[in-house]
Amino acid sequence: MNCLSEKNTGKKMVDKVFLAAVKAQETARNIGENNVINATLGTLYDESGSLVTLQSIWSHFDTLSIKQKAKYASGIQGNPHFRKAVGEWLFSDYNIPHEVIATPGGAGAVYATIKNTLDSGQVLIKPSLAWGPYTTMARENGLDLVEYNLFIDDHFDIQSFKTVTQNVMKIQKRVVVIINDPCHNPSGYTMTEDEWEQVWSYLKSLSLQGPVVLLLDIAYADFTNQADWKKQLLRFHDGSENLLTVIAFSLSKTLTAYGMRTGAAIAIHSNQQILRDFRDALVYTARSTWSTVNNAMMDLFTNIVFDEKLKHDYLKEKEQYIKLLQKRSDIFITEAKKVGLKINPYKEGFFVTIPGSIEEIQSWNKKLQEQNIFLVDVGKGLRIALCSVPTKQLPGLAKRIYDIIN
Ligand code: PLP
Repeated sequence: MNCLSEKNTGKKMVDKVFLAAVKAQETARNIGENNVINATLGTLYDESGSLVTLQSIWSHFDTLSIKQKAKYASGIQGNPHFRKAVGEWLFSDYNIPHEVIATPGGAGAVYATIKNTLDSGQVLIKPSLAWGPYTTMARENGLDLVEYNLFIDDHFDIQSFKTVTQNVMKIQKRVVVIINDPCHNPSGYTMTEDEWEQVWSYLKSLSLQGPVVLLLDIAYADFTNQADWKKQLLRFHDGSENLLTVIAFSLSKTLTAYGMRTGAAIAIHSNQQILRDFRDALVYTARSTWSTVNNAMMDLFTNIVFDEKLKHDYLKEKEQYIKLLQKRSDIFITEAKKVGLKINPYKEGFFVTIPGSIEEIQSWNKKLQEQNIFLVDVGKGLRIALCSVPTKQLPGLAKRIYDIIN
């Protein structure tokens, strides 16, 4: 018997990060941790190889009552104070017309947005180098995928972005396109103000031909080293009737709370009816899939945002880790340049990527694993998760990689 429907037959999740991480851990058990480079995990680890759990977050979590932890959220859209807190966190005091829907992580926000803005058989546009689940989420929703080339030389390939979105608009009369910025996963690229200006003014003109949804995944935004990066978000209400921006926000990275599955989709538009329609559709999806979001985490985030002392302590502690990421990447990038190891343009954040063809990446990955260096094959790149490699393991790593793959 095939217990699966025709459409769902043959689905199998191959998680490349998980597989590489398991191999790295097994090898470390056999030959000792110091003899293995495990740059597979996309979560932040400290210098002793332990998962970073911000004290300012988790000691406050312990002060929440058992009832707060046990109870359902007060609404499917998310607790009202949480929704206010998300708006405040992203837009400060600026009056940006928006609607917040709580989701299980940034993943829930991406999923619910593509599900509600495209119909089965339509095309989702994503970058050529991207977080893997965009692909599985598209397939899960019966969508096809088209990619824009992400980089040309050392910057964002605006021409490819324009050509691909224009082609899809011509055929489909509707565009839904993902941008993951800042601290792009897996390259560590952050778009410049000028690149954002070009993208935004182009999308405004594209939206004269049909509806455009910009899905902006900001999963790593709270680890950018540009203190005022969120000002980039203020431009998105100045669009057109046909242009909706949806931000996918994740508390996984922001609060080092990956397992708590809390985030939000934030729609920005100056027309209140469009915001209400988007909210209603996502609330419907929420009730039909995950139902409600973790109550304690919503309360915790609200307290962090509105209590000056808690916020101050959190920002101070987080800053140390932004600096740690900078220290790690400075070592790796400087050495990569010195030895001639090619990497995609890197600015900041958790990851660096070595570009190559699919065949090259597979072959390099195998050779590196034989020398106990575990990276993640991301298709047209090999991802090095600097976020999980202690600094002491970084000097000399770029040269080792260069020598092995050349
Ligand atoms: N977007 C990107 C680019 C990510 O790397 C991740 C997590 O790794 C997410 C979104 C979503 O994370 P979560 O669902 O844990 O918030």
